[in-house]
This record gives sequence, C-alpha cells and structure tokens, in this order.
Amino acid sequence: MPTPADFGAKQLPCGNGHLHWVIPQKDSNSCGARALRMALIEMGLGDDTPTADQLLPYMIVGKLGVTSRVLRSAVDMAMDGYVLEEIGHGDAFGKALREGGDLGTPIVAYCDAFKDGQKEGGHWVTVARRNQKGRGSWETFCVLDPASGKVYTVPISKAGVGLFSFRATDVRPDADRARWDLVLKAGLKFVKNART
Ligand SMILES: [Zn+2]
Repeated sequence: MPTPADFGAKQLPCGNGHLHWVIPQKDSNSCGARALRMALIEMGLGDDTPTADQLLPYMIVGKLGVTSRVLRSAVDMAMDGYVLEEIGHGDAFGKALREGGDLGTPIVAYCDAFKDGQKEGGHWVTVARRNQKGRGSWETFCVLDPASGKVYTVPISKAGVGLFSFRATDVRPDADRARWDLVLKAGLKFVKNART
C-alpha cells in the first residue's frame, strides 16, 4: 500500500502533539491541489483518493490560480463520499473553524499572499486541527502550507482572520530574503454527500 511519503509528502510535528503530512508545492499554481490532497490525508483518505499530481489536471488554472469553484468540482469528480461547500469569509469562516470540539474535517482555506508587503495574489492552505483556546476571541489552529512545506500554529480570530509569515530563505537557502505574509480569510469545508 503506498504511503503519503511515496508522492513527496513529509511528516512534520506541529508543536501541538500531532504529526501532519505536508506536501511542498512544485510551482506557484499547484497550491490548490496540494492543499486539497493534504486535507484528504488528514481525513484518513491517503491511500484511496487521487494524489495531488492526479488532482491537478482536474483543475483549470486561471490568472488568479485555482478558484474555489475548481476545487469543488475536483472533489465532485475525485471523491464519492463528500462535497466541498463554500464557508465564505469573515464571521462565517471564524464560526466554521469553531464547530464541534475539534474540526470534524479539515478546512481548505484561502489566503491573500503578500510579498514584502505587496499583494502578490492568492494562496491555498489546509487548516488541519483546532487547538486549545487562546486569549479572547483568538484560537490557534494547525495550518499546513504547501508554499513553505511547513506546518504553522496560527491564531485565527472569531471574525475569521489569521496570519502567518515566513521568509523565502526558510524554504530555499539560496532564495531572496523576501518576507511572505499569508492572511487566511475564507474557506471550504467537506460535507458528507447525501447522495451516497
Ligand atoms: Zn497539529
């Protein structure tokens, strides 16, 4: 039986007592396929669903990368048991992250990406787990990032905003010193498909 390591995933500790499989992206357009694949692995569907490389051809990549509509249709085509549903942004996103004691299923989250403070476009990450409550309306979540190939503990407010950052040199030592800020703001959740 293949394991996630066979298709480029690395198992990393998050600092909250879990191990997560993270798949580094190969180019700037593949974050959506990888975020979706990491969510499927978190759901225990590591072996019986298409890999990120098999998912990518299902996805039409536009000027702004992969849209949420494209991710939803990839799940329709690739999976029987679930559909992806739009959560939206703001309070709806913050609330969906706080449903139940832990996330029932991971949330595929959309970020605005900023390079040295300049908006560079959008990015997809996987919100894998909900951790203990933080101060006030903030709670922390385990976020799997295909761009850096790392896992972050990210505070996300009740109003549905979270932020994590890294330097390009954290990913490749020979890269420029650019600082990337990723602002989580919306997402998609898995819902059991009533038709099956
Ligand atoms: Zn974790």
